[in-house]
Amino acid sequence: MANQCGKLYVVATPIGNLGDISFRAIETLKQVDLIAAEDTRHVGMLLRHYGIGNKRVSLHQHNEDRASLALLEKLRAGLSIALVSDAGTPLLSDPGMPLVKLVKEAGLDVVPIPGACALIAALSAAGLPVSQFTFEGFAPRTSSARKTFFGERALTPVTWVIYESSHRILACLQDMATVLPLDREIVIARELTKLHETIVKTTLAEAVALVERDDNMRKGEFVVIIDGAAVVKAEQDVTEEQLRVLGVLLKECSIKTAVALAVEITGGRKKSLYQAALATQQ
Ligand code: SAM
Repeated sequence: MANQCGKLYVVATPIGNLGDISFRAIETLKQVDLIAAEDTRHVGMLLRHYGIGNKRVSLHQHNEDRASLALLEKLRAGLSIALVSDAGTPLLSDPGMPLVKLVKEAGLDVVPIPGACALIAALSAAGLPVSQFTFEGFAPRTSSARKTFFGERALTPVTWVIYESSHRILACLQDMATVLPLDREIVIARELTKLHETIVKTTLAEAVALVERDDNMRKGEFVVIIDGAAVVKAEQDVTEEQLRVLGVLLKECSIKTAVALAVEITGGRKKSLYQAALATQQ
């Protein structure tokens, strides 16, 4: 059945510099019958730049369940469709997940056309360990939710990455500094691939000071990369779940109580959890 049906191509587009698109992506956008775009006007600029005709349909977070069903019917009817977002790789903090899930569940082909992605671009130039990392999307919008969010990740043993907007970058870093050690290494990657691209690797304390004093460091789009918790990396016998539980408890209790409760909840070793807890207080 998949043979008579059209394919869904998930196409990455540039995150700033229009040169960052693959030949295959351009060919795919030219050849498909329809382009499902987050913002049809926005993608119009890209399509005009490459001389690609107008065959856009809208697929954004407010219509994606309904629009995905309609697109599945078009694929079943034999049309080929490219999915693009405003910038970078669709689905990564962008619409597309319901469509891809639906199409796969229907047994039809989903073909990735890889390319730019802000988090991967930032990691590739950050100078922090990347053999393992976690991508955490956007941090919550309110200060209290952000502190909880960062507290839960304070003991994450691997590099972690968040997206942030110009409106919240300063508040985000200030909140991070209330729950993470001030000497934790972080990288601020701003306006990647654009004229004012800036990639700064420094401590959390310095990052807050820099963004406070330099207006330009509050402009544009941001990826923030945070080094994993140092001592915890050496503690191979502490699992990520144990660290998460410990992180939550440490926000409310003394080290002694938090460790005792974490041992009871997770069954972890007291000595290891105690060392992990100490690492967060440094
Ligand atoms: N799907 C996109 C991707 O593949 O990176 C991400 C879309 S998400 C809605 C937009 C966020 O990605 C921005 O708020 C920013 O955090 C990050 N971002 C996108 N482009 C960027 C750039 N050129 N430089 C730094 N961060 C960027």
